[in-house]
Amino acid sequence: MPRPLEALIHLDALHHNLQRARDSAPDAQVWAVVKANAYGHGIERVFEGLRSADGFALLDIAEAERLRKLDWRGPILLLEGTFEARDLEWCSRLNLWHAVHHEAQIDWLAQHKTEWPHRVFLKMNTGMNRLGFTPDAFRNAWVRLSALTQVDEISLMTHFSDADAPRGIAHQLAIFEATCADLPGERSLCNSAATLRHAESPKVRGDWVRPGLMLYGAVPDYPEHRAADWGLRPAMTLRSRLIGIQHLQPGDTIGYGSRFTATAPMRIGVVACGYADGYPRHAPDGTPVLVEGVRVPIAGRVSMDMLSVDLTDVPHASLGSEVTLWGQGPAVAGQPTLLSIDEVAEHCGTIGYELMCALSMRVHFEVL
Ligand code: PLP
Repeated sequence: MPRPLEALIHLDALHHNLQRARDSAPDAQVWAVVKANAYGHGIERVFEGLRSADGFALLDIAEAERLRKLDWRGPILLLEGTFEARDLEWCSRLNLWHAVHHEAQIDWLAQHKTEWPHRVFLKMNTGMNRLGFTPDAFRNAWVRLSALTQVDEISLMTHFSDADAPRGIAHQLAIFEATCADLPGERSLCNSAATLRHAESPKVRGDWVRPGLMLYGAVPDYPEHRAADWGLRPAMTLRSRLIGIQHLQPGDTIGYGSRFTATAPMRIGVVACGYADGYPRHAPDGTPVLVEGVRVPIAGRVSMDMLSVDLTDVPHASLGSEVTLWGQGPAVAGQPTLLSIDEVAEHCGTIGYELMCALSMRVHFEVL
């Protein structure tokens, strides 16, 4: 029997969340962002749930190749573009669209011999200060690209730093608009936060939105909004079982470092999930899990293969009881139960992105 820890991938939720992106950005086309192995879910596993996207966006040529092996013939965009000149061979071979964000990439294109002209997304740095041409350099880059026979279409893109934060997008949008005003080409600006919060404006949603996180049913602006507020459903459930039960007396402690001390007689459940599976070691006491759909707190330090939970509120829990680390729990009294990855992440001082990307190789996946 395999160890009882599995990540379930819910194709219906992926499909539903993609539709939410479409609803939020009417008329725009949707890049489903599947970088980092589909945010830890697995490109091959999410593919059926997201295949009605207009294109897939990712970073890595190897990941793009995996999509082509799934027989995806539609657009694929490399969000960071090429890393060296020879990547252009692969872009031609796999028919990849690619971002262009620095002069060297234009030099490589100019020297590249190809029968198939490239489609590029020229990236402007409007304030994120990560990748992209400054507004001053952007027009010159556009002129250089448009003179190349190796390039047949130039789209324009930028990336927001604060679409989920009070600072907002207005300052970056103004720079993008002013710089691109008279340039032809499709526009792409929105990640999940901008798609959910700002894409009612046609200028913001442009021609292509690029949601990632929301497709997986997590939210960028937790706790201001919860997934349900945006109509999103978790696309992953991390599920395990109780593999041990301990009866503690007052003064007894749990786990390494004896972080938790019982103040009354209590039952403790031991769950087959630890930091070697990707669950955060620094999860504090009180981080919630569901046991048989009932919310209970973690007690004691997470170890490599196990964590412990306080079973006081689930007297009926026993060896083998189902434990939901995040995602969709079992129904209780006919009602579905849910534990959002955003809530778990907040307890752990991180974000849903990090938890979903961190699951380790030894977690067994199942696609539903
Ligand atoms: N576009 C670009 C350029 C990105 O780097 C990312 C992710 O960081 C996304 C879109 C998707 O972002 P999110 O997962 O917040 O929707």
